[in-house]
Amino acid sequence: EIPAQGVSPVLIDYRPGLNHVPLSLAHLLPFCWRCDTPLLYYAKQTWYIRTTAIKDELIAHNDEINWYPEHIKHGRFGDWLQNNVDWAFSRERYWGTPLPVWRCESCGSYECVGGIKELEKKPGLSGFKEPLDLHRPFVDELTFDCQKCGAKMRRVTEVIDCWLDSGAMPIAQHHYPYENETLLEDGRLPADYISEAVDQTRGWFYSLHAIATLLFNRRCFSNVICLGHVLDAKGEKMSKAKGNVVEPWAVINKYGADALRWYFFTSTAAGNVYRFDESMVAEVSRRFLSTLWNVYSFFVTYANIDRFTPGGEGVSVELSELDRWIISELNQLIVDVDSGLDGYNPTEAGRRIEGFVADLSNWYVRRSRRRFWKSESDADKLAAYSTLYECLVTLAKLLAPFIPFLAEEMYQNLVCSAFTEAPDSVHLADFPVADESKIDKQLGEDIRLAMKVSSLGRAARSKAGIKVRQPLAVNYVGIDLKGRESLERVKPQILEEMNVKELKYDTVENVAALTKDGYVVVGESPCNSAISLEISPELRAEGVAREIVRRLQTMRRSAGFDIADHITTYYQGEAYIGQVMADFADYIKQETLSRELVEGVPEEGAFAESHKLSGYDIALGVKRL
Ligand SMILES: [Zn+2]
Ligand SMILES: [Zn+2]
Repeated sequence: EIPAQGVSPVLIDYRPGLNHVPLSLAHLLPFCWRCDTPLLYYAKQTWYIRTTAIKDELIAHNDEINWYPEHIKHGRFGDWLQNNVDWAFSRERYWGTPLPVWRCESCGSYECVGGIKELEKKPGLSGFKEPLDLHRPFVDELTFDCQKCGAKMRRVTEVIDCWLDSGAMPIAQHHYPYENETLLEDGRLPADYISEAVDQTRGWFYSLHAIATLLFNRRCFSNVICLGHVLDAKGEKMSKAKGNVVEPWAVINKYGADALRWYFFTSTAAGNVYRFDESMVAEVSRRFLSTLWNVYSFFVTYANIDRFTPGGEGVSVELSELDRWIISELNQLIVDVDSGLDGYNPTEAGRRIEGFVADLSNWYVRRSRRRFWKSESDADKLAAYSTLYECLVTLAKLLAPFIPFLAEEMYQNLVCSAFTEAPDSVHLADFPVADESKIDKQLGEDIRLAMKVSSLGRAARSKAGIKVRQPLAVNYVGIDLKGRESLERVKPQILEEMNVKELKYDTVENVAALTKDGYVVVGESPCNSAISLEISPELRAEGVAREIVRRLQTMRRSAGFDIADHITTYYQGEAYIGQVMADFADYIKQETLSRELVEGVPEEGAFAESHKLSGYDIALGVKRL
């Protein structure tokens, strides 16, 4: 990339034997990217590897490699191989692997030395010192006699392009061929998988591929994920000069390594550039990691209160529909994550986990919350604990490759503290295997539709200005027959979720027409939802009772009570409030862990607040027993 302003009026050809005549020819010239100094090219002699001689083999072996993203294979990398030029592999530098070529001072003949043993046998060897160091300057002191004329041979001054070192890594790390001679037969080459950024098509990807082809006529790696570059938030290359470099440690210290990892895994598919914006790491942390952590904390908090021991009782638990649904989703998740990772697509796998955690939190845990609150330890409560436990442990294992620290924290607490014989780390545990017999696709579709209808119901309420806590008599759902069957199967969940007493079905058109009867209608293909604004006195009272419960729950938290603390509740208000407290006493007591509802001034030491609910004044007090 030569900047357009880099135009020089003079071109000088420095090749030996040519007259150095300045030509009047305007041309572009490059600048140093770091300090902007104009640069001039000139022709020089150098050492090459004749890779053009194996061009066909390079292309053939590339055909055996799976590239992710796929277009690199015959695009960026394939083009590079098609237009192969010999590898200019020597460098006029001091540091580096010395080129092992000696030249006769007298007759000019060359010898390439293949190893220390070969060097030691050279006639007239001089400068050999123990311990032997084959780097400059020591290697340059080694001389020996020319086999042709007997004169002294000296090493040439060049060192080797460091890409040769990186490309030789798979065999050099095993000290091949001096040791591990059976490396190829042992299946250590090709490697199953490598990953680097897209610029490596001319760098590491190429040097690995070229060396394996040159030496062994085989591919070096079977699968490769080729990553896009990390740019700044505006899509510009990060550079010190521009001052737009993001320091990774600052981000890691602020959000944690797992948040940064999750961002890179899930924000965009491998191969695309990352427009790095710190706020997106914050968003990932809030949207995914916090949700996961909240579900985990919820479980741990209640499991500790109830002294739940996983799998300890050895009793088979009777799973509810909600439990069966999330276990079905969990097993489908294992299938999807497994196939995502098998297909070298961590982005898709990660996004599936994100979707599952959202469902786990927003539907399963939210809808199961009261099952954990019940004070008696009955079968349904045990089913909820076992189910959520299984979800969290499986999630820890699925997440281990993505967010190793959080996954380990969860695993240590959930598994290691309960089972001494379990693997010591989540990273030593087996990856989950799906039990496909537990996948109920129909139930999955039913609940998915229930979620959709519920969200339409909420949207209708919000349009009408009616809170979800206010029970309604009927919710009309406009949907086709197949949808009705789905909703009927999971009806109790929907009624509870939407806080309505009855669900009625009709065609989308008829439900839409309810607008003229004063209903509020909200639709989103393929269904719609309508609610009436009329609220009976009974439902109004139930709504007030729910409001009271919510205030009491908030007051419990404000007062600093533990979630399992039992309390006495005090109330004062108008006659209507007194009636609601009496009519819904059992419900209010159960939801707020109140032993008693006492009408009157709160006792000394109670936490008290005044509220206005549906136009009625009420004073409430809570006191821990
Ligand atoms: Zn420079
Ligand atoms: Zn010679």
